[in-house]
Amino acid sequence: MNSFSNRLTRLFGIRYPIIQAGMIWASGWRLASAVSNAGGLGIIGAGSMYPDVFRYHIQQCKAATDKPFAVNLPLLYPDIEKHVQIIIEEGVKIVFTSAGNPKTWTALLKQHGITVVHVVSSSKFARKAEEAGCDAVVAEGFEAGGHNGREETTTLVLIPAVVQAVKIPVIAAGGIGTGKQMLAAMVLGAEGVQMGSRFVACVEASSHPAFKEKVIALQEGDTQLSLKQLTPVRLIKNAFYQKVQEAEMRGATKEELAELLGRARAKKGMFEGDMEEGELEIGQVGALFDDILPAATIIENTWKECCLGLEQISDTFTAK
Ligand code: NDP
Repeated sequence: MNSFSNRLTRLFGIRYPIIQAGMIWASGWRLASAVSNAGGLGIIGAGSMYPDVFRYHIQQCKAATDKPFAVNLPLLYPDIEKHVQIIIEEGVKIVFTSAGNPKTWTALLKQHGITVVHVVSSSKFARKAEEAGCDAVVAEGFEAGGHNGREETTTLVLIPAVVQAVKIPVIAAGGIGTGKQMLAAMVLGAEGVQMGSRFVACVEASSHPAFKEKVIALQEGDTQLSLKQLTPVRLIKNAFYQKVQEAEMRGATKEELAELLGRARAKKGMFEGDMEEGELEIGQVGALFDDILPAATIIENTWKECCLGLEQISDTFTAK
């Protein structure tokens, strides 16, 4: 199955339809270039980078790979104009936008010949992204880590709904970290998958080692979607999460929750390694991982397992 080709691999110019999610504090140039060199699409997560840091990561990535790579731009980012300028100046060819209105930046990026993909959590937002001129969408279900939709639509329901709603290619995300999960998503009509949590527990991720260890120790039920009044985010249940829970249970206002969250909590947890007071964003699928692996091994294992899963299920259906 080495010569796999579909609309998505052709759109990005990649070998396998496996995309590494842009994740704050985890996905710098080392991870992105390692994924791209292994035949997937690596993404630099711009959300936690000041503009000069962002430019440095793009330049390092260009030096580390001659394969296509992308950047993820959360549209909530405070200095977004500067990031867009850097993307254009540095000649980045693929941009994944998230957490905002796709109409705002898509036209400008496309005028510069950039392929634009937007992350959505519903069919309604997928249609908006298509109308805005996006080339593909990432449909991310409830199981996902980090920022999440308010409606709690699971990946199993979201993917067929989005596939039906739009004509552009759909990339499945949320709860996908193995080849068999990838196969399931593709059976539902996705043309590729985006994996985040799997690439946090990865040698090349810039996440703090304590966070990587925490991810591979996770059990079912160890994460929960929280802070729905602010920006919904799936968190590991640590001391900070317990404080959020208590505040939400007693009916804390949005302002009180924002004060409790404070500033740079995500950095404190995922980058600086405070496993109790930091904000630890990860998906449910973390409960399935036992190892911190190199990016190339993750890509290879995922693709092999996906192809093997296809053979096994075909055998089951055709067995007499
Ligand atoms: P906070 O407001 O709590 O803190 C801002 C953090 O971002 C700080 O740690 C700061 O680093 C860093 N930062 C980078 N560039 C800037 C800048 N230009 N101005 C201010 N701070 C900057 O935000 P969060 O940490 O919760 O989120 C940061 C960004 O990441 C947001 O844009 C958000 O939308 C995005 N995000 C995306 C997620 C996703 O799923 N894609 C998930 C969560 C967040 P320092 O401490 O060194 O000053």
